[in-house]
Amino acid sequence: MDIPEPDLHEGSILVEAIAVGVCGTDVEIVEGKYGWAPHGQTHLVLGHESLGRVIDPGLSAGFKKGDLVVGIVRRPDPVPCSNCAVGEWDMCSNGQYTERGIKEINGYMSERWRIEPEYAIKIDPALGILGVLLEPATVVAKALEQVKFIGRRSYWEPRTLVVTGAGPIGLLAALFAKMYGMDVHVLDRMESGPKPDLVSELGATYHSGSIMDLDFEPDTIIECTGVGQVISESIQKLGANGILCLAGIGHGGTVRSVSLANVAASAVLRNNVIFGSVNANKRHWYKASQFLAKADRKWLSKLITRVERPENFMSALERKPDDIKVVIQFSGI
Ligand SMILES: [Zn+2]
Repeated sequence: MDIPEPDLHEGSILVEAIAVGVCGTDVEIVEGKYGWAPHGQTHLVLGHESLGRVIDPGLSAGFKKGDLVVGIVRRPDPVPCSNCAVGEWDMCSNGQYTERGIKEINGYMSERWRIEPEYAIKIDPALGILGVLLEPATVVAKALEQVKFIGRRSYWEPRTLVVTGAGPIGLLAALFAKMYGMDVHVLDRMESGPKPDLVSELGATYHSGSIMDLDFEPDTIIECTGVGQVISESIQKLGANGILCLAGIGHGGTVRSVSLANVAASAVLRNNVIFGSVNANKRHWYKASQFLAKADRKWLSKLITRVERPENFMSALERKPDDIKVVIQFSGI
């Protein structure tokens, strides 16, 4: 669609889009299963995994023309709840937060967009187009931080971390956990394609079978599939004092021949914590940008498996078997 130039009230920094990542949430919004247009409007501009170049920094002293920036997605609710009031909008407790490209504010999938300086994250220019991976990386930075916080409830020296699902979030979780020095294992259904190689290049171990087949009990599991069977088996496989982070969103599906009470008993008897994690606040955006800047760029670049032009957006929304991260590129880097 032709849409008006971004309005100054959307932020004092004017940005030219370089690329926007596509994820499952975008597909759900297009299918009408999720997402909200801005109040009084019938359309929502998609795009929450942004990367752009500053055209006009406005009056903001911290930015200059040519800076590469990524826009934070969530905005605190207007009340605000106590979490949003202290900048922890990822933990918003009243659900009235808004999100660019998802909930009531237009996203970044347009040739130009504006952003408030406090919600723009400047990235290392050496990252180039890889900056588009920052948003999924923030989800991982938050999940791993939460695991660390929860671990402090007792004396805990986690060594093994299992990731279920080798999508962008799972692979970035494996990368960051390796950077923390952990023994990392990644499970996925795929037996070929780029995923097994990406995992072994990290120095992590790839498994295409069930988590029940592992010959050890993990200290930490980052569950990225949202599949009932995988979640149930993850709880049963988790080691003593282990922590299971649910980071994937699934859709229905039933788990056969498992008694919920038995699964719960296993968690009780081993002091397990099972928790959900979504979104990220500015602290996680900052941490993730530091992680990405330190990561191996050649490896990161292999996560972007397909680049589409804006006019081929429909193809970008299609899921192909070897896709990891699909990106719509608006302009050259
Ligand atoms: Zn809130």
